[in-house]
Amino acid sequence: MEISVIGAGYVGLTIAVGFASLGYKVTVYDKDEGKINFLINGVAPLQEPGLGDLLKKVNNNLEFTHNFDDTISSSQILFIAVNTDFKNGKVRLSNFNRTIKQILRQKNLEDKTVVIKSTVPIGTTENVEKTLKGKFGNKVRVAFNPEFLREGHALQDFLNPDRIVLGVNDKVTKEILLQLYEAINAPKLFVDFKTAEMIKYASNAFLATKISFINEIANLCEIFGADIRKVSDGIGLDKRIGKDFLNAGIGFGGSCLPKDLKTLIYLAKQKKYEAKLLDSVRLVNEEQISRFVKKIEKALRGKPKKIAVWGVSFKGGTDDIRDSPAIKVIKQLIKKGYEISLYDPKALQNAKKELRGNVSYFDNYLEAVSEKSALLVLSDWREFLSFDLDETRRRMKDYYFFDGRNLFNPEEVKSKGFLYFCTG
Ligand code: NAD
Repeated sequence: MEISVIGAGYVGLTIAVGFASLGYKVTVYDKDEGKINFLINGVAPLQEPGLGDLLKKVNNNLEFTHNFDDTISSSQILFIAVNTDFKNGKVRLSNFNRTIKQILRQKNLEDKTVVIKSTVPIGTTENVEKTLKGKFGNKVRVAFNPEFLREGHALQDFLNPDRIVLGVNDKVTKEILLQLYEAINAPKLFVDFKTAEMIKYASNAFLATKISFINEIANLCEIFGADIRKVSDGIGLDKRIGKDFLNAGIGFGGSCLPKDLKTLIYLAKQKKYEAKLLDSVRLVNEEQISRFVKKIEKALRGKPKKIAVWGVSFKGGTDDIRDSPAIKVIKQLIKKGYEISLYDPKALQNAKKELRGNVSYFDNYLEAVSEKSALLVLSDWREFLSFDLDETRRRMKDYYFFDGRNLFNPEEVKSKGFLYFCTG
């Protein structure tokens, strides 16, 4: 079987390299010519652990093209992994629809299976199937195969998933996909299109709910004087709850959780259902940013407005800054007249494109803190934990340490002479 992937982003490129490593021949197309040029030269245009190395290793099985039609001619299975957005209160499927139009322009799609990987609103796959079969007849097949990888662990998650969800409508497609994923050892769940689409939204909505839940409890801990970290341990040890996604802080971000949550609320509203719980999850998350900024302002009243920030990606381990809570905190602080010195291990280039105003960028975490009143930790990069806090404190003008991710051990930070603030 030969595979094509449309969209060479975090998902598309990961699955392309992943399938190539399993021995498949994979052709990749992206409308972004710059990305394809990077890939033709053997360079990954995004940061994911192991992706660049594996890309080079399995290069013989990979082809990158500027020509959409190559993806159709060279493969039996066509993955759509373009970005799907939610902007200005609406679902935006323009990239996805453009791909469907390009497919519809083909003369023949006999015996091809179009697999939607992009997260799409419930009902989309059914519509795509109707449209494609309307033009090409029953010999074209359609499936929805949501992706659950986490940025920062993308390859590992794709090759060792907890489960593979497959939305299919017929036995032949089921057999083809079983064969495709034969080498991956994970439970395979075959369901109808709409159920598969809902599984993807429900998974992300649940994870978002866990985060807003623990943030709300953390806010209550601040009011009542309880310790959120111990509360998280205490509830997370209950197997019915589980310890993951129970870390309080400035909230969730990234290209998926906020978008998918808002999309589900929006889809519900279109059907005259008010998703009250999900809307509260969104609200708690949004308010978490201003709560944190208020905490900073209150503590720093009268101090020079010069602060250092470690971490701008939406979480540690990635260069992705889409919908990053760190970016939101920084933007609010810039508006309030603060001067920001920013350090991030991987995401500075992306941050430069997004941030305007009084921001300087540092490749070195110690240079960023020099002569600053306060240090803010806004992404949970594990490597921050091995940074030299004694030297950090020595270089700073003042001793304020705001941990937006509850990443550090408070006692350790305080022992270095800092005044430590966190969530809860
Ligand atoms: P991305 O923005 O990183 O990549 C999308 C790529 O598609 C870009 O390179 C863009 O240039 C390309 N593209 C857009 N329109 C195109 C078109 N018409 N033809 C060809 N290429 C086109 O997005 P992503 O993070 O990889 O997400 C892709 C989809 O997967 C989204 O629906 C997302 O919700 C879903 N998803 C993402 C993740 C994640 O962690 N990023 C996880 C699971 C699911």
